[in-house]
Amino acid sequence: MIIVLHNTVKVSEKEHIVEYLKSKGLTVREIVGEKETVLGAVGSIAMDSRQIELLPGVAQVIPITQPYKLASRELKKDDTVFNVGPVKIGGPRVCVIAGPCAVESREQIITSAIAVKKAGAVMLRGGAFKPRTSPYAFQGLGEEGCKYLKEAGELTGLPVVTEIVSPSDAEMMRDYIDVFQIGARNMQNFELLKKVGSMDMPVILKRGLSATIQEWLMAAEYLLSAGTDKVILCERGIRTFETMTRNTLDLSAIPVVQKLSHLPVIVDPSHGTGLRNKVLPMALAGVAAGANGLIIEVHPDPDNATSDGPQSLYPEQFEKLMCDIEALSPVVGKEITRIPDLRHQAMAASVHDSKISLKDSKPRAVFQGTKGAYSELAANTFFQGTDVEAVPVSKFKDIFKEVLSGKSDWGIVPLENSVAGSILENYDLLYLYPDLRIIGEIKVRIRHNLLARKGASAEEIKKVYSHPQALSQCTEYLEKNGIEAVSFFDTAGAASYVSQQDDLTIAAIAGVDAADYYGLDILAEGLESNPHNYTRFAIIAREDMARSIDDCDKVSVVFSTPDKAGALSGCLSVFSEYGLNMTKLESRPIHGKPWSYMFYVDLELPEDRSIFDKAVDKISNMAEDFRIMGLYQSK
Ligand code: PEP
Ligand code: MN
Repeated sequence: MIIVLHNTVKVSEKEHIVEYLKSKGLTVREIVGEKETVLGAVGSIAMDSRQIELLPGVAQVIPITQPYKLASRELKKDDTVFNVGPVKIGGPRVCVIAGPCAVESREQIITSAIAVKKAGAVMLRGGAFKPRTSPYAFQGLGEEGCKYLKEAGELTGLPVVTEIVSPSDAEMMRDYIDVFQIGARNMQNFELLKKVGSMDMPVILKRGLSATIQEWLMAAEYLLSAGTDKVILCERGIRTFETMTRNTLDLSAIPVVQKLSHLPVIVDPSHGTGLRNKVLPMALAGVAAGANGLIIEVHPDPDNATSDGPQSLYPEQFEKLMCDIEALSPVVGKEITRIPDLRHQAMAASVHDSKISLKDSKPRAVFQGTKGAYSELAANTFFQGTDVEAVPVSKFKDIFKEVLSGKSDWGIVPLENSVAGSILENYDLLYLYPDLRIIGEIKVRIRHNLLARKGASAEEIKKVYSHPQALSQCTEYLEKNGIEAVSFFDTAGAASYVSQQDDLTIAAIAGVDAADYYGLDILAEGLESNPHNYTRFAIIAREDMARSIDDCDKVSVVFSTPDKAGALSGCLSVFSEYGLNMTKLESRPIHGKPWSYMFYVDLELPEDRSIFDKAVDKISNMAEDFRIMGLYQSK
């Protein structure tokens, strides 16, 4: 049953309720959801649930109608999201696990780990114990295989997954691995499930060869009731009358399970099809169907693999698969999980530490554009006095990808210009990358300058090159001086172009840094018609890099609203009810949901943080997908 607690429940009341339930022989779990905190109590009781309803602090007791309780969505409405080492799984993420079917040798697993890591996998698989159909087939290297796996995992920074076939191996294996896998043949090996569930470690539970979805969820219930709350379900194909593929990959199970259960579900297209050339299409189909991840067999030399060679991908095929999954993910509202580069993770220093320095490499802040761009100026201003190096990338999306992968520590993202308005693409990207946080902001005064090669004079300039926005902000100057405006993809790029032409009648409109960088003279300064021309940039970092800053005074949140009258004004009125000053409101259409919108709100954070926390409690009951994008210091 589900015991819904009053919002005002006291800690002592909650403890009393838990004690009471335990004294009745029930297993109790506290589930802190976005909208409410509930207690899940499972087990058989011979008592009237109304007795529980009478306890102080209890708002309501709801029976769980499904035979699986802890696994059910009835108990926990939000998706289960958890970390396996540095890797987050669940929710809108696509987590890719890859590696050979079996660990065959130290060299083979290390080569595999390096190859799959390079292509973008975030966990390494490899069987040390192989439950084979024939007792004469290769049975795995056992503990030796686990040792090699551990070494390969440590070398690449990838958490490792391996199958357990006997409860007696559990203690030995725990020292070597990060995730237990229960194979399809053992899905209903209840003693194994109980033992593995009690190890307090993540578990991948494969669907049995002929298991119904209900039986599969009941097996998950065994794991959960034994103690773990980190269960990943894995659809790996079921046995049907069809013989063209090894199994029939039941992709409809994904949306079905996701409705019934809060647990993450991944897809194994390798065992699901048994055929290498069917793995890519079914992996894409799995992600399109909503899977939270994939587990793929990849072998450095599949033709000589000891098991499952015909379904194992060559490393190049796996690279292609990763590129295709990356392209597909945003289309279906997902983000591909990246593992942070450990070198950078180790230097998860705060930007507020005045000197950040590393002996072997500098921390990096990526910006979009060319050297000398206004974004670079923003980066240099924000990180003034530190060793942070500003590095250009060509697209806004690349900023997010670089930071998520850990290749760069921070990203500089322009959000709005005081004259031209919001940079909408970046609002969309902030929503698409839930594992990144805004950790700071900076406003940069945009001063446009006329830059030309040495020897040129302002009076002789006939043509200027710049970004269309910069040109439009300088129209008065250009018209007055009869100068022709030519669009260029960015301001610093225009400066670079002008510096390469042997022509003293052309100029670029760009910032002072671009003049320095491309060796141009500044012929005129402050060309913009409106002197109040500022661009506001957000500084983004990975969630695990974003150390909490005590003296933040600003917060950015995002949410959508249910499709009913007054939903948005209801949410916004919460902010005024708690006296929170809104400094910005932006809306963006939700991809794939016509006429639905995400709302982005910036608020001043009151000194008494509990006021904001209460407002969040209230609004998360009214809004959908409410998320705090970052708490930071306004600049
Ligand atoms: C495996 O992952 O190598 C394996 C044996 O899978 P399944 O249990 O799904 O057959
Ligand atoms: Mn296999």
